[in-house]
Amino acid sequence: MPPLDTPNQKSVAVIGAGWAGLAAAHTLQQHNIRVHVFEQSHTLGGRARKVHSRKLGRTIDNGQHLLIGAYSETLALMQALGLDEKEQFLRLPLDISTLNQDFRLCLKSALPAPLDFLLALLGARGLPFTDKCKLIRALISLKRQKWQVPQAQTVGNWLRQEKQTPFLYQAFWEPLCIATLNTHTDKASMQLFARVLQHSTDAGKQASDFLIPRVDLSALWAEKLSAEITIAYGKSIQSIQMTSTGYQIDGWDVEGVILATPPTQCAKIMASLPGSENQPALMKALQQFSFNPILTITLELEKNWDLPLPLYLLKTDNPQQDPGQWLFMRSRFMKDTSKSARPEITIVISQASEWLDKDKTEIIRLAIEQLARQAPANLPLPGVTAWDIITEKRATFSAEPGLQRLPNPTAWPGLYLAGDWTDTGFPGVLEGAVKSGQLAARLLAQHLTS
Ligand SMILES: Cc1cc2nc3c(=O)[nH]c(=O)nc-3n(C[C@H](O)[C@H](O)[C@H](O)COP(=O)(O)OP(=O)(O)OC[C@H]3O[C@@H](n4cnc5c(N)ncnc54)[C@H](O)[C@@H]3O)c2cc1C
Repeated sequence: MPPLDTPNQKSVAVIGAGWAGLAAAHTLQQHNIRVHVFEQSHTLGGRARKVHSRKLGRTIDNGQHLLIGAYSETLALMQALGLDEKEQFLRLPLDISTLNQDFRLCLKSALPAPLDFLLALLGARGLPFTDKCKLIRALISLKRQKWQVPQAQTVGNWLRQEKQTPFLYQAFWEPLCIATLNTHTDKASMQLFARVLQHSTDAGKQASDFLIPRVDLSALWAEKLSAEITIAYGKSIQSIQMTSTGYQIDGWDVEGVILATPPTQCAKIMASLPGSENQPALMKALQQFSFNPILTITLELEKNWDLPLPLYLLKTDNPQQDPGQWLFMRSRFMKDTSKSARPEITIVISQASEWLDKDKTEIIRLAIEQLARQAPANLPLPGVTAWDIITEKRATFSAEPGLQRLPNPTAWPGLYLAGDWTDTGFPGVLEGAVKSGQLAARLLAQHLTS
């Protein structure tokens, strides 16, 4: 680590090198503040990172991620780092299809948002006309309410209020809610879901575009940034000390700190600070989050599976037999798949609590059967030559109504919180993490100049 103090340059610490911490580090650096990142693991990216799969003998992601065009701060940050969006992502207009395309919703029209979305709904394949009308009516009423609903309302309550049919619930709303909030409709916060719907349907022409990473998640932008900042890996920070000029962390003196770790770690670290015993509400709020798992299956195939789209919605008619919710044709969009490597697909199981205790081989068997059953007759699933499953037990916080999301500032001067769990208005997503990190950094920069 280089020396901390150079004349006139303030120095601060960021704890946690997930997307929130790294976005904070980037913003601080732009304010000409020297920043030192402490990360407990040896990889950048936190919950969106690369991992080594021993079973497959190569690097994969800890979980398939999908970004959307509305992630404006993330895209701007990547641009500021000099990264070319086309190199990093496959961008395509919203297109949700089952494997045999008996359900398909795709945005093709040149009309402005939200008309393009309404037209896509009207033209969607596999939805009865009356259901389309009900769905559109529900969205229009939400827009009329300026995407605001009672704070205590769940998505399930709202669907009942809007008289959505069981078919719509099963074929459209439940998969969408689980994919975006990682929480079942009967538990999920309608306010957060309304925000997601607003972003996807009413936030401009390209806001609903899908952006599928073409490189591994750590390489998407974190590794580019890491060349410009100081990162101490393998440093699990358990406490920080207050000093007359700021804080001391792991022997380093800094003038401000951003805690960009999950909330329970923040509570642990802050417990070491003077006056923490006078912050019972804060400590309680940090402990109240519960988390939902996501499982990601990678299957290596003996040959290419020539399906035309890069991702598919999988049917989960029988939840006990059909684990997969989304299928990504990884070899179609990943940039660095070497010619000799076998084709690869990933299957995402969000809100996967009921699968955690199941035998992994059994999950793979069911997933393969599910794909084989749903594949078009002329394009059967090729043989599977190898597989891996990554379990992220605490993938995202459970996005329930009444959850108290915390602001970035704390009671301690120069100490700020960042993370997708702070009060971002988003569910637990990448854009929320980036925005939270950037805001914490701007507040810290202001504090240092005040
Ligand atoms: C499988 C999976 C799929 C997902 N899919 C999507 C998706 O498709 N689209 C989307 O937008 N979002 C998705 N998400 C959510 C997204 O990954 C998160 O919202 C985002 O990564 C959170 O970033 P963060 O920086 O807030 O937190 P984290 O990534 O959790 O970062 C916290 C960092 O702090 C470090 N740390 C913790 N304690 C300490 C300590 N004591 N000292 C030092 N370092 C510490 C951790 O190692 C970690 O690097 C998914 C998440 C998972 C797990």
